[in-house]
Amino acid sequence: MINGERLISRPLRWAMVGGGRTGQVGYKHRTGALRDGGYQLVAGAFDLDAEMGRDFGVNIGVAAERCYQDYKALIAGETAREDGVDVVSIATPNFTHYEITKACLQAGLHVICEKPLFFTVAECDEVARLAEQKGLIVGVTYGYTGHPLVHQMAAMVKKGMLGDIRIVDLQYTHGFNAGDDVGAGEAVKWRTNPRTAGPTFVLGDIGTHLYYLSQIVLPHMKVERLLCDRKAFIPTRAPLEDHATVLMHYDNGARGRLWVSSVNAGNMGSQRYRFVGSKASLEWSDSHPDQLIYEVQGEPGRILHHGMPYLEQESLAIDRMGALHTEGLGDSWSNIYLWIAQAIDAANRGDRAFLKTHHYPGIAAGTEGVRWLENCVRSADAGAAWIDFA
Ligand code: NAD
Repeated sequence: MINGERLISRPLRWAMVGGGRTGQVGYKHRTGALRDGGYQLVAGAFDLDAEMGRDFGVNIGVAAERCYQDYKALIAGETAREDGVDVVSIATPNFTHYEITKACLQAGLHVICEKPLFFTVAECDEVARLAEQKGLIVGVTYGYTGHPLVHQMAAMVKKGMLGDIRIVDLQYTHGFNAGDDVGAGEAVKWRTNPRTAGPTFVLGDIGTHLYYLSQIVLPHMKVERLLCDRKAFIPTRAPLEDHATVLMHYDNGARGRLWVSSVNAGNMGSQRYRFVGSKASLEWSDSHPDQLIYEVQGEPGRILHHGMPYLEQESLAIDRMGALHTEGLGDSWSNIYLWIAQAIDAANRGDRAFLKTHHYPGIAAGTEGVRWLENCVRSADAGAAWIDFA
């Protein structure tokens, strides 16, 4: 169980780019990072509007002189200080991730970047090489993948409790973009423009969460072929999609079905995962994140609750709240930030042995998401054709 005791040598001095008053995801980062004392938020370029960014930074306790006008000034100012930051989180629109990540790494700073990581696998590979040369960590924040019941599912699959995996059924949908974009805010505008969002809208925005979480549960299975059908129900969003279906063939013969949509009017179900094996199935949804449905063929269904002693050690070790008390998204973010802090701490100490076995969502996780997106777009652009996964 995680109880907040420090698990790294010293707290990391931390900065954020984006994620200020007008950003949707910034508080999730702070909820994750500031929980266990592993990070101290000492600097930031929190907003495109530098004045608002400074005002916001001061209001959350950052010294005014360390609230910078942009990321370039942040890097220059912080690398000139003896007590400059160790790590920078990037919580800005997709098109800025590559440039800011590269600049931070070149300046010797670790990075925690939002998904989808970059636009292309080539960019991911280039940045992975840079990080490796510099001995720096790049972490990626896939929100729910630190949840104890996600790791319970992985442990049960690994133990063979489901038998051979046959069906993977993934859904992340909502209806927030069911109407048109007239008068839409900035967060919708940049998400629906290929210049700022990249080659996808909902596939990258929410589909990458499904794909990465399923990889945590099924690390032994690789997608061999896929078919992606995507559509913009609101025509001004084309060529990007507000709805997509992806069929996947895995290398063990399993079949996958993934549905992402932001035009599922009225739906608040968000994420749902079902893994079906030859003996049993698991189903988990973020509507009831503290419950895992376990159904063995021929037996009454069971609901497993987080934090209960009957769970696997892999799940109990990362539980925070204990059974009976709902454990959710904020707790998951705290685990993700903790794992990345441990990776940074090990990198700073040159402890390569630790890094070899330590689980955290790193650049490979970000790259795999981008690779999956590239394949989805290739299939969709070929008229929803089956393609070999490249
Ligand atoms: P948003 O539009 O709500 O906020 C973006 C913020 O970044 C704004 O405050 C803007 O002023 C600021 N910004 C833009 N460019 C900047 C720059 N160069 N320097 C400093 N600040 C800058 O966007 P959002 O929804 O917070 O999304 C940001 C990123 O987070 C996206 O990549 C998105 O895909 C990702 N995201 C991830 C999750 C998750 O669960 N991991 C959830 C939501 C968003």
